[in-house]
Amino acid sequence: MNVLVLNCGSSSLKAAIIDDVTGERRGRVRVERIGEPEAALFDADGPAVPCAAKDHGEALAAALPVLERARGGAPIDGVGHRVVHGGARFSQPTRVDESVLEAIAALTPLAPLHNPANLAGIIAALRAFPDVPHVAVFDTAFHATLPPRARSYAIDLELAKKHGVRRYGFHGTSHAFVAARAAAFLGAKPGDLRLISCHLGNGASVCAIEFGRSVETSMGMTPLEGLVMGTRSGDIDVGAALHVARAEGLDLDGLDALLNKKSGLAGLSGVGNDMRDIEDRAAAGDERARLAIHVFCHRVRKYIGAYAAVLGAVDAILFTGGIGQNSAVVRHKIAHNLQLFGATLDEDENRSARASAARPVIRISTDTSRTHLLAVATDEEHAIAGETAKLVARRDEVAQRSIPIAVSARHIHLRKETVEQLFGPGHELTPLKELSQPGQFACEEVLEIVGPKRSIAGVRVLGPVRPADQVEVSRTDEFFLGLDAPVRDSGDVRGTPGVTLVGPKGSVTLKEGVICARRHIHMAPEDAARFGVADGDVVEVAVDSSGRDLTFGDVLVRVSPKYRLEMHVDTDEANAAELVPKHAGLLELTQGTATPLRRVLR
Ligand code: AMP
Repeated sequence: MNVLVLNCGSSSLKAAIIDDVTGERRGRVRVERIGEPEAALFDADGPAVPCAAKDHGEALAAALPVLERARGGAPIDGVGHRVVHGGARFSQPTRVDESVLEAIAALTPLAPLHNPANLAGIIAALRAFPDVPHVAVFDTAFHATLPPRARSYAIDLELAKKHGVRRYGFHGTSHAFVAARAAAFLGAKPGDLRLISCHLGNGASVCAIEFGRSVETSMGMTPLEGLVMGTRSGDIDVGAALHVARAEGLDLDGLDALLNKKSGLAGLSGVGNDMRDIEDRAAAGDERARLAIHVFCHRVRKYIGAYAAVLGAVDAILFTGGIGQNSAVVRHKIAHNLQLFGATLDEDENRSARASAARPVIRISTDTSRTHLLAVATDEEHAIAGETAKLVARRDEVAQRSIPIAVSARHIHLRKETVEQLFGPGHELTPLKELSQPGQFACEEVLEIVGPKRSIAGVRVLGPVRPADQVEVSRTDEFFLGLDAPVRDSGDVRGTPGVTLVGPKGSVTLKEGVICARRHIHMAPEDAARFGVADGDVVEVAVDSSGRDLTFGDVLVRVSPKYRLEMHVDTDEANAAELVPKHAGLLELTQGTATPLRRVLR
């Protein structure tokens, strides 16, 4: 697939059309200094071209002609968006819809610079490519598996919960990608290996990956914690930071800037944040540059030791990111003398190793080394393209097999005579809203249901009128009312309990008519042929929701040319599957879909 990958920073936009399998770029463009008079566009690595981009929408508009030219008419199959913070909600790449946009916006307090920029990029791209699936790929998602012991800070638990203070981890897309690359190189699956992945670039983090799952990582609630980075301090005694702030009269923003922008390699070396420059200065005898490299490498080594203890055994240590892929000096300082877990650096290999697209994985340990040391080229954009393509392909497949779900709230069907007893002689039901099944409508009329124990007011009447009165409630409603109604197909009310209905002009006590509606699927004959079922079949259905995936048994199939494909569940069942309502109304379409698994009964 051709995937447009967008990576938006606070004042930048990077876009590329990428082949999801090979990672090959068809076009690559970036716009920098968005919102400033100096905004400029770069076509691949070409020279800066001034472009008046006031926001991310205008930046994308400026980039599009370059991408259009590059793709030469080939279709774009999906758009993948890098999103920095997915909070506790997103544990995997997610198709963008309105609720996802809202959730990314709601996570802004956790990533005040990044998430709004990511969101602006997504909105601009949704406008430019409205007919293509958009997928958000989160830097934090891979670390959703961190166990509570690794993700919790030892502060007041209530306070932590209130403000979402916990360790989320970042660089997840990169750690997962290089783990997969390394596993393939070693002829194994990520699920067979215990790995320590060191992403050493301008931002830097270490991740302990136990059989494919992130179990520890050095970045925390924000990307400030952990390793020494280009301009970020990484771990620091908070007491020391407070002391400096007090002594220098810094406010919170001043402290933020000090630790995020003026520390790390730049703060230590005084040379800037570029490791190449620092290495050059260190080689020329600059003591601050040497110290910067020593502190940087010592911190990584310390984490490797700690993560080896977390994992219990280590199959391979991976070096990636601009520094990890290229710097022999840094890798040597980190990985020499690791006899503790049988890792022996091959100094010659290490000296020349430069992991890149051309040679993505290079072994830098000796043949006899028990733990492999590997330089691995990361490519986060390729990873985003891959994740996007996977989701697009899955969605296409699921769309073929899936059934929209509607949640049926408690409701009442009435005979014409009952309508008149409750609402007055000659009264006709007043349609309020059409329902998805043709001819059915929700009415303006509502009634009170009075049970032996309690009553429920405001229960909606559905039209048109029917040959028998019928009250459909959930199991929870039954307990509340004090009734014991059976699970029945709609229309089958014989021998069911009665109830009193109270309307504005009178009340009626039904002798029978209360049921708990059986889960069912409406479908047209074409759908039935596609799913291989017939009217009256009872099937099992897997519900794929944004909450809890669940399999429902005993789902009745109802086939008629007048039906539209839809599964109806009641509110209890929807709650059990944590289905999220998409549309308000009597029948709420949800974000979940159902897939028939097998036919059980006929
Ligand atoms: P990244 O953020 O992954 O692009 O990495 C950027 C960092 O990698 C910068 O500090 C670069 O100086 C560093 N880097 C790139 N190439 C080399 C190299 N050959 N030797 C040392 N550091 C390098």
